[in-house]
Amino acid sequence: MFSGEQELPAAGSSAEGPTQLAPAAVASLPGAPSRYESQKRRDWNTFGQYLGKQKPPVLVSQCNCNHVLDFLRYLDQFGKTRIHQRGCAFFGQRDPPAPCTCPLKQAWGSLDALIGRLRAAYEENGGSSETNPFGNGAIRIYLREVKDCQAKARGIPYRKKKKKKKNQNTSDQMIPPKDEARTS
Ligand SMILES: [Zn+2]
Repeated sequence: MFSGEQELPAAGSSAEGPTQLAPAAVASLPGAPSRYESQKRRDWNTFGQYLGKQKPPVLVSQCNCNHVLDFLRYLDQFGKTRIHQRGCAFFGQRDPPAPCTCPLKQAWGSLDALIGRLRAAYEENGGSSETNPFGNGAIRIYLREVKDCQAKARGIPYRKKKKKKKNQNTSDQMIPPKDEARTS
């Protein structure tokens, strides 16, 4: 159990009291089986191995958000999601009619979920929530940039609920608002 400090409050989390409806509706929740747990363990091991392979090796207790950011970039080479570059004819197209040579990367959603698991694993393995590098604002900013960039490149508007902006400390990206799905 870690204490507060979550990134985006889930919609409706401010509602007081238990608002549960039918228990049957609760499919994807903490009680849920060990698929998440085993994935989390695997991710944690991968991260540990990654740190161990650095020169010089980095201990988990020494790792900071820069290691995490490097790790995320490192993972891109194993990605399977085509991210069209600006010059590509298919930039912004959801279903390109032909192959192209744009790089494959990790999809934003995968990275986002990964960070969530590692963040939990870090604290379960004795890290403190105050120093949790996975909860660092820099990670959040990085993920948001990846998301925006991939949404444009792939023509996929990730429309989550509007979140209020925090972490305004970087210069705002100068990317124009995405043109909503223009296929249709
Ligand atoms: Zn392309």
